[in-house]
Amino acid sequence: MVLNRAAHPRARNEKMIIVLKPHSTKEQIDHILERIEELGFKAHVSQGELRTIIGVIGDENKLQAEPLAAIPGVEQVLPILKPFKLASREFHENDSVIKLNGVRIGGGALGMIAGPCAVESEEILDEIARKVKAAGANILRGGAFKPRTSPYSFQGLGEEGLKILRAVGDRYQMPVVTEVMNPRQIDLVCQYADMLQIGARNMQNFDLLKEVGQTNKPVFLKRAMSATVKDLLMSAEYIMAAGNHQVVLCERGVRSFEDSTRNMLDMSAVPNVKVQSHLPIIVDPSHATGRPDLIPAMARAAVAAGADGVHIEVHSCPEKALSDGPQALLPDQYASLMTELKQLAEVMHRVIDH
Ligand code: PEP
Ligand code: MN
Repeated sequence: MVLNRAAHPRARNEKMIIVLKPHSTKEQIDHILERIEELGFKAHVSQGELRTIIGVIGDENKLQAEPLAAIPGVEQVLPILKPFKLASREFHENDSVIKLNGVRIGGGALGMIAGPCAVESEEILDEIARKVKAAGANILRGGAFKPRTSPYSFQGLGEEGLKILRAVGDRYQMPVVTEVMNPRQIDLVCQYADMLQIGARNMQNFDLLKEVGQTNKPVFLKRAMSATVKDLLMSAEYIMAAGNHQVVLCERGVRSFEDSTRNMLDMSAVPNVKVQSHLPIIVDPSHATGRPDLIPAMARAAVAAGADGVHIEVHSCPEKALSDGPQALLPDQYASLMTELKQLAEVMHRVIDH
């Protein structure tokens, strides 16, 4: 595995604000100031009639809200900077552009990821790839290690699947993305894939995030079904803090009370991420809705909302698919959708590399 330990940013001073409970006593304030000094930080006290507020300045790597919040008399500790740094817009003002060979994602370029849920055979993948490529997809997907809810469901072809994915990707000149489920698979998957997918179920597998953070491969990080946008960005931060800044985020729906769709697509995550982060974000309407009849509308909405691409599962014979068949679009349905998405891309001044 190629190590890519980029330098960490210089430790900067960070500020926090401590709001004390009303009518705090002088003893309490003195105790808080003592603790702040012991921790090696500087304090600035601002006393009002009812409330006292203390500004704290210290090394960003050491200044943590939790120990301060535990001191008696403290009501709230408010960090000024975001908890994620490398992933934040403050750190990196311009959109990041992630490159997979000649295909760019971000900064106005759309990553159009398409393919079956799982790699099943060379014949099936070849047919799907040929058709999605002709329709305008620029990245081929297909799982070789599948995170299935049931241990009795198809678990993927493993290395055999990776070999097929690589061969077919090369045949149609498409970079390939596939899921890596645990650190032991990383070296193997890196031999075949252009981008490593971290699935929703592993978004907070921090050891896995640290390990893919040490590779030189772009990482496709899917939002977990019960993760906030902040959690997603903190997970991206793990990968980036380990040295790999090539992260593409993916909104794939979150769990909700609505049971007519597989998940609830949080479209606001797209502009929400854009405000807070420079990283590209792709929308996956396939896993978000689980319904082919809803996927086209959600894909159009994603491009209109400013997403950096869409991720769509396509199968030539969904009824025979070994995984996620019911949500797969047929190649023809994908092609009609792509005709619309290309028109939208033009209106939105976006390009689709090939
Ligand atoms: C997938 O992309 O096939 C997949 C398993 O997605 P998710 O991790 O978002 O459920
Ligand atoms: Mn799937």
